[in-house]
Amino acid sequence: MLDKIVIANRGEIALRILRACREMGIKTVAVHSTADNNLKHVLLADETVCIGPPNSTDSYLNMPAIISAAEVTDAVAVHPGYGFLSENADFAERVESSGFTFIGPPASAIRLMGDKVSAIQSMKAAGVPCVPGSDGPLGDDFDEIIKMGREIGYPIIIKASAGGGGRGMRVVHAEASLTAAITVTKAEARAAFGNDTVYMEKFLERPRHVEFQIIADSHGNAVHLGERDCSMQRRHQKVIEEAPAPGITEEQRERIGARCVKACQEIGYHSVGTFEFLYQDDEFYFIEMNTRLQVEHPVTEMITGIDLVREQLCVAAGEELSFKQEDIEIRGHAIECRINAEDPKTFMPSPGLINLFHAPGGPGVRIDTHIYNGYKVPPYYDSMIGKLITHGQDRDAAIARMKNALTEIVIEGIRTNVPLHQEIFQHAAFQQGGTDIHYLEKRLGLV
Ligand code: ADP
Repeated sequence: MLDKIVIANRGEIALRILRACREMGIKTVAVHSTADNNLKHVLLADETVCIGPPNSTDSYLNMPAIISAAEVTDAVAVHPGYGFLSENADFAERVESSGFTFIGPPASAIRLMGDKVSAIQSMKAAGVPCVPGSDGPLGDDFDEIIKMGREIGYPIIIKASAGGGGRGMRVVHAEASLTAAITVTKAEARAAFGNDTVYMEKFLERPRHVEFQIIADSHGNAVHLGERDCSMQRRHQKVIEEAPAPGITEEQRERIGARCVKACQEIGYHSVGTFEFLYQDDEFYFIEMNTRLQVEHPVTEMITGIDLVREQLCVAAGEELSFKQEDIEIRGHAIECRINAEDPKTFMPSPGLINLFHAPGGPGVRIDTHIYNGYKVPPYYDSMIGKLITHGQDRDAAIARMKNALTEIVIEGIRTNVPLHQEIFQHAAFQQGGTDIHYLEKRLGLV
């Protein structure tokens, strides 16, 4: 097993990784910015190294500082968490070439999946269903492109191959605006990503977001852990996630899960990963793969009983997966609410001192958070301060527990989106399940 690892992240996920390491007897090095001396995992880690000033470009994104921290502490591996450098193929490569293990997939797989055109092409080759589209970069022949647009049918979406975080996309409703949309998206993509490759896809008007969790080892074994529904979103940011996805049948789960497993094996993927799909009219359409541990991994842990971080560490250490597909059994239903330090109505970030924190509890209630009484939320980073997860024998039971937990939780001193969650859990449409990705923004009157 790994002897000592650097946790190259902050907040709740750094604490989540630290907890797994402690259970497994792995020593930890917390690298942190000068704004994060008081993070819970920094206080609990075996060793700490300050890697730079608050600005994440100079700290959590500072590759040489993180690699030096691994060197001076004699660590053997680096866990990137999510966000920051977790999907940076150059970082993965530099970690490995400096003699450390990158706790994630091979750099080649990150690179392949980081480019949307190459990702879609390799998924198609593996039999994963994709959105009807150009299947490759758009060239310069506009007559050809117009013909393709007619074949796909409007509305269509133009997407930058190097895009991410919801940027580099443009919906086109009619042929008259097609060429202008391509020109503008290309120019934006060149400016934002230094790569103006764009492609075309059918625009699905009321899809759900359904994603499959997979885990693979470096010996060619891969298993899927079912799906999650993350359709409750605002500005392409997930707000509530659940597993399993309402209404998805066992047959669909097995069929799509098996394709994802096959795709992992074909691209030489190992570690944890997620295949994201849009789901509409009973069909799945692959949109992208996340080559890292995800924020919403706990809902899958709750329904499968598998500790994804532990397994991720085991496969990074070169072990074989300790379970097979037939060992995976889905039990009950789990829901996660992302708790953000933000105004519940305006969504403005609300950093500052937490002068009172009381965690909810009871059967089937889990909270993953780094906050504590007297913790000061810094203004420099993402506003997510924790995740509240409930598990029950079915969806109704998980909802009932979440409603309780949302009334029990107390976070004073800053504003949080807890009132927003309380409101959503009263919506009849949410209670029924299966709402599409536009539901929340429409319901909140944001679009
Ligand atoms: P990013 O890497 O920027 O997150 P994605 O390809 O995952 O980009 O797309 C982000 C979001 O954009 C999706 O979750 C969905 O809401 C919307 N989207 C992307 N492609 C389509 C499509 N073909 N039809 C409808 N919506 C889409």
